[in-house]
Amino acid sequence: MKTLKSLGDVRGKTVLVRSDFNVPLDGDKITDDGRIRAALPTLTRLAEAGAKVLVMAHLGRPKGEPDPKFSLAPVAKRLGELLGQDVVLAADTVGEDAKKVAAALEEGQVALIENVRFDARETSKDDEERSALADEYAALADLYVSDGFGVVHRAQASVYDIAQKLPSAAGELVFKEIDSLSRATDNPERPYVVILGGSKVSDKLGVIKNLLEKADRLLIGGGMAFTFLKAQGYEVGSSLLEEDQIDTVKGYLKTAEERGVEIVLPVDVIVAPEFKADAPATVVDADAIPDDQMGLDIGPKSAELYASKIADAKTIVWNGPMGVFEFEAFSGGTKAVAQAMSDADGYTIVGGGDSAAAVRTLGFDEATFSHISTGGGASLEFLEGKELPGIAILED
Ligand code: ADP
Ligand code: MG
Repeated sequence: MKTLKSLGDVRGKTVLVRSDFNVPLDGDKITDDGRIRAALPTLTRLAEAGAKVLVMAHLGRPKGEPDPKFSLAPVAKRLGELLGQDVVLAADTVGEDAKKVAAALEEGQVALIENVRFDARETSKDDEERSALADEYAALADLYVSDGFGVVHRAQASVYDIAQKLPSAAGELVFKEIDSLSRATDNPERPYVVILGGSKVSDKLGVIKNLLEKADRLLIGGGMAFTFLKAQGYEVGSSLLEEDQIDTVKGYLKTAEERGVEIVLPVDVIVAPEFKADAPATVVDADAIPDDQMGLDIGPKSAELYASKIADAKTIVWNGPMGVFEFEAFSGGTKAVAQAMSDADGYTIVGGGDSAAAVRTLGFDEATFSHISTGGGASLEFLEGKELPGIAILED
């Protein structure tokens, strides 16, 4: 993979950097600035080397046209605070204002263009459309740096096509992510344990198939646990359930048994009648979920069991909260897993936007984890052994 060094002297050059600033927002307030902080090493390194730094990123899911709700304005403000300089935000992505902002950049200065997903070509399936947009990005700069790890699994214009238009390299974040995640893919130290949870059930079920060939133990929590419990013949009330995946999951359970991979499921669950912070929470055994209740967290016995399965592992990967950690009453399972990882001697990787946010908002010291990935889908695809287009294009 080409690194920043390969770009040579960047002084006076305009460097277009793709970052991942897809931060959680509450109105126009950033509730977790982890991804912005993760982008700083590359931006400061380039700025200190005298580059004119033009950053591009996406935020949320605008529908391919400008939408003030998804403006990068809050990001520009926070980035400016963190960098200690005013960060100008262009009013458009590749229009007149972006050109003006790019042309006005001085050495060591950082500016932003507006949300790249304000242009439908950014995520187009049509190669020519993306290529045309990439030409417009390229016209703004001399060099390209790919540093938005959270999007490197997408063949999008600002991630993939642009790297074919300008001399390109991976930024510090992308480099560090690949370097760290490789600890789990290149001969991981064993036992290798993967903990999966969260709510993107069907997305993550596919991952399991691949992990069954790699991991020694799979601990299942969060929303997807209920499809597993159902596959084992338990009733799951009104919990998250992917009916059409039950047979697939039965297949996974069988494969796991044949391969000697241990799949650990919740033995107890915290249920509530509705999805609400103050809904009355009850602990029930996993085979006794009432019809009219939903499982919103793994129970205390499960939390203890999962912690014990993490403690002796040498490589530990966690993606997806164990429960609805945003609600205090349903945060215990996620806390227990985070604590067990933080205490473990093994190499610990946290992937997934919400999981990483959980670690921070639940008050854990990030330094007690070996690696907290900024990419959810990207880190999972990498761990599955898939080729990531945004990385492949940076090969030398
Ligand atoms: P990540 O971003 O770490 O990959 P996901 O986006 O897949 O994780 O899922 C995170 C969300 O999953 C959290 O907002 C959490 O509230 C939700 N969640 C976890 N367990 C459950 C559950 N049992 N029922 C409903 N939602 C859940
Ligand atoms: Mg998420």
